Amino acid sequence: MKCLNCGNEFEGQFCPECGQKADTGRFTMRFIFENMVTAILGRDGSIWFTLKNLFARPAGMIVDILSGKRKRYFSPFPMLFLALTLYILITSVTTGFMVQEAFKDGEMVVSQETGENSQQAVEVFHTIKQIVFFFINHYTLCFLLTLPLLVVTARACYGRDNRKRYYWAEYIITIVYAMVIVVLFRCLTRVTYLFDHDLALSLGFVLSPFIIIIAFTACFRKMLGFSIVKTAWRSILAVLLYSAMLLFIAFIGAIVFALVVLNNKGDVSIMIG
Ligand SMILES: [Zn+2]
Repeated sequence: MKCLNCGNEFEGQFCPECGQKADTGRFTMRFIFENMVTAILGRDGSIWFTLKNLFARPAGMIVDILSGKRKRYFSPFPMLFLALTLYILITSVTTGFMVQEAFKDGEMVVSQETGENSQQAVEVFHTIKQIVFFFINHYTLCFLLTLPLLVVTARACYGRDNRKRYYWAEYIITIVYAMVIVVLFRCLTRVTYLFDHDLALSLGFVLSPFIIIIAFTACFRKMLGFSIVKTAWRSILAVLLYSAMLLFIAFIGAIVFALVVLNNKGDVSIMIG
């Protein structure tokens, strides 16, 4: 028998060179249907099987994957992209921003306290507001771009022994699976927003940082060989460090933004004057 994929001649059900099935025929609707059902609901390697394990025994699943039991689980990056796609779909359906209401109150306080003369304070407030809105509007983008930072802080906080024991890429794989949990939780808060704004606000703002820590603790515990408390404590440290770095970047961004935009406005008014 000749392999239709790589041309290798062999006997048996699978090509020993490239792994392709021997009975590869033409595509049929039945094949497409079965393929989709297997990818989503199948017993091994499906999305459902992986999600079930991710929530029921995350620590065990991560150790499985790192030690080589991989075929039974859906790959981490496609999994994260699916979760993010779901999140974007849900976000586009749920209209309005969760923080818009919080900012309305803040704006009133600023304009009341500063009076009408202090235009500058209002302008600074607007700058901060725009940056926060940008981060929330482009949450997925900002989050993906800053994910390497979280890998750095997690690796730093999980101890020297584990830094020797695991490659960078192994931390990344675990963090990507943990992020699937986090993104699915955000999907849940978005759906909640449709029914109950206050509940969604409290879920989004109060619980969000905890979800990252819970997901990290659940996924990393067995791999690191720490107790739950120790893993949780180190995870809190990693997230705090990551948040501090994000704040620092946002702070620098705000200064640069203010310098460029406000200076330009100054120039314009001088030119007009
Ligand atoms: Zn082959």
